[in-house]
Amino acid sequence: MADKKNTLSGGDEIKLKSRINKEEALSMLKSESLLGIGRIADGVRKSKHSENTVTFIIDRNINYTNVCVSECRFCAFYKKKGAAGAYILSKKEIFDKIKETKDLSGTQILLQGGLNPDIGIGYYLDLLSEIKEKFDIHIHAFSPPEIIYMADANGITVKETVRLLKEAGLGSVPGGGAEILVDRVRKKISPNKIDSEKWLGVMEEVHRAGLNSSATMMFGTVETDEDIIDHLVKLRRLQDRTGGFKAFIPWSFQSKNTALNPRGVYGHYYLKVLAISRIVLDNFDNIQASWVTQGAKMGQVALSFGANDMGSTMLEENVVKAAGTSNNAVDEKTMVKLIKDAGFIPAQRANNYEIIKFYK
Ligand code: SF4
Repeated sequence: MADKKNTLSGGDEIKLKSRINKEEALSMLKSESLLGIGRIADGVRKSKHSENTVTFIIDRNINYTNVCVSECRFCAFYKKKGAAGAYILSKKEIFDKIKETKDLSGTQILLQGGLNPDIGIGYYLDLLSEIKEKFDIHIHAFSPPEIIYMADANGITVKETVRLLKEAGLGSVPGGGAEILVDRVRKKISPNKIDSEKWLGVMEEVHRAGLNSSATMMFGTVETDEDIIDHLVKLRRLQDRTGGFKAFIPWSFQSKNTALNPRGVYGHYYLKVLAISRIVLDNFDNIQASWVTQGAKMGQVALSFGANDMGSTMLEENVVKAAGTSNNAVDEKTMVKLIKDAGFIPAQRANNYEIIKFYK
């Protein structure tokens, strides 16, 4: 990148020095130059993924319980204990879902659930080890709020909890529960959830234990542009220390059936945030497009605004669906077509982004 001032100049031209600072990132986010920012982000993607490949993973979200004490205001998925529709999946149900995933060439399951006071750490450890005994599958599981909840409920440290989970078969950790890593925002949208320092602290322990994780951001509630940039800079700082984040996935708040009103951000803003994320997170290799929240067509466009990965074919998804967003399922064949039609080479990947196969 050119060693010049990071400002918008000459119409859509944006010139960057090597690392963008907070003020520069904010000025870009506030600018109207979507295409200019997109071109820079696309340039960063190309410098990291010169082979023009766009990857995806075949996996399934398994939400083992929807009972949750956190009662986040943006969440349409959770139920109070004893409420109609509250559930804990049996092991058999979970194993059946994994078998189905394997039969469709799936290589990973994403296990996540609510903060359920009736589930002790023994349940999680047994579940992980039984899955590993029965299936050759990567387990991407338990976001930081779940890990802290397990640790606190059992009076053990986060470090020890992560060690036990890893020993039982945990392969990596999803970046859920980050929302916006600014406590003023968190107090408004999820007052009972862990604060931003704790979220970052769990991820640091996860990385120190030799596991990778993803990072996420959910925007479009009560946050400001400044909060979005703060979130990105906090992630970049932790990544400088640990290098343990494999990917970043931003998406916008889906509001139906929740207790919060959206602040009204649409496709233009999504693409700008995505592009800024690619530019600010210069130490992240992979940025995912969120077709689940934005739709497959916007997912394709996102590939020219910094994203190099389409995430998952998502054989099952319950959380976003509960908030009223149900984009048509994208199976392997459709995913390949979407990526090819957008001008890229599709490839199935593993959790660690190693390529399993290319689709010519
Ligand atoms: S977002 Fe997660 S922690 Fe918050 S209420 Fe929903 S299930 Fe619980």
